[in-house]
Amino acid sequence: MEHQGQFRVTGVVLYRKDLSPTLRTLYVWCREKGAFWVFSPGSGRGKIGRAFTEPLVWGTFHLYRSTRGTYLKAMDLREDFWELRRSPLRVREALQWGGLLKKNLLPEHPEDELLRVFYWSLVLLREGAPILPLRWRFFWKWLSLWGQAPDLWRCENCGRPLEGEDVYLHPQKGGLFCSACTPLPGEFQKAESVLRELRRAVMLSRSDFSGSSFDLESWQWEQRTHLLEELLGDRC
Ligand SMILES: [Zn+2]
Repeated sequence: MEHQGQFRVTGVVLYRKDLSPTLRTLYVWCREKGAFWVFSPGSGRGKIGRAFTEPLVWGTFHLYRSTRGTYLKAMDLREDFWELRRSPLRVREALQWGGLLKKNLLPEHPEDELLRVFYWSLVLLREGAPILPLRWRFFWKWLSLWGQAPDLWRCENCGRPLEGEDVYLHPQKGGLFCSACTPLPGEFQKAESVLRELRRAVMLSRSDFSGSSFDLESWQWEQRTHLLEELLGDRC
């Protein structure tokens, strides 16, 4: 991070808080810099449009850092994802992702790959992609970058490749298991079809994902995604 002076960074507003009618503070997440707070004086009515300093807005921030803090001087808007706001369901989803990122990102620690995953997940959300598989896809890719995603190709316990029908899941455990590692059959469920859909959700290219439909029920996505959220929560 620069000590003092002017610099420019590209990224997204994750969160904003109005300290007064004329002073807004933003939590921004930027390429090569990570996440950090900036003051945005006058963003309520000044030269930086109020809409530029809302969560989910992407752009290049022109910043000035002094001993008192970092200040937003100007902004070049890249993408405001304003269309998302037409769907309460989709904008709520996007804001929840932003909130989780704000909670989990280490301040001033670059996470450029995850930043890209977030951006392209928002694009899919805007394009009308199915929300529950998309939520799974985003969280799984996020955890994968942090080396914590459940393995979709090998048994969680013994590492044997998961193939054919020999796949089981546990309702309260994130990973998938082979038959040799399911000593209490009543607690485990056959998961061949679930695994196929989980894999599709993370493996499909963005353009293929956008128009796809998925075979799992809502509760199945929610159960699997909840386990990913727990993995994220455990980090706090
Ligand atoms: Zn096993």
